[in-house]
Amino acid sequence: MKRKKIEKKLRKILDRERYRHTVGVMYTAAALAMAHQTDMEQAMYAGLLHDCAKCIPNETKLQLCEEYNIPIRESERRCPFLLHAKLGAYFAEHEYKVTDSMVLHAIQVHTTGEPDMNTLDKIIYIADYIEPNRDAAPNLTEIRKLAYEDLDGAMLWILHDTLDYLKEKGGEQDPMTVQTYEYYKERNR
Ligand code: FE
Ligand code: FE
Repeated sequence: MKRKKIEKKLRKILDRERYRHTVGVMYTAAALAMAHQTDMEQAMYAGLLHDCAKCIPNETKLQLCEEYNIPIRESERRCPFLLHAKLGAYFAEHEYKVTDSMVLHAIQVHTTGEPDMNTLDKIIYIADYIEPNRDAAPNLTEIRKLAYEDLDGAMLWILHDTLDYLKEKGGEQDPMTVQTYEYYKERNR
């Protein structure tokens, strides 16, 4: 599907704020792709579709994953919002007809991350955190600058602050996010 057509469809199914965020992630991902000399089209498609399954009720997310045989981890059963990443990749492939497996993978891992992510994965993960509509996270000014210079350094900082935030508000730390953090800590040594 053409990007414009996907945008039109998403504007209908996402709420206003989510759509604004989506467009923010798409252009931030494009800018990061420019800075790191990688494919801009891929970055824009992945950014555009990364949250396409976000505005589905959690109960429905679980049902749909079962229906489509998408494996559900224990932590995802407890926090079904995490499933919007896997479900989003499924919709990207089947409803929005994305055939590029790298785009699908970047969508799939955008919420928890995973160790040893490729450049596109990191661009989407980071763009999701730093896009211009975000204003609540600490260190945003510094992380935004770093993102254009050093993707692994930005990954480490975001993962650290994300786990910190979850710890503070008593939220559950997903084991995959912890693993990803450990990986990037080692890598940035
Ligand atoms: Fe998301
Ligand atoms: Fe997002």
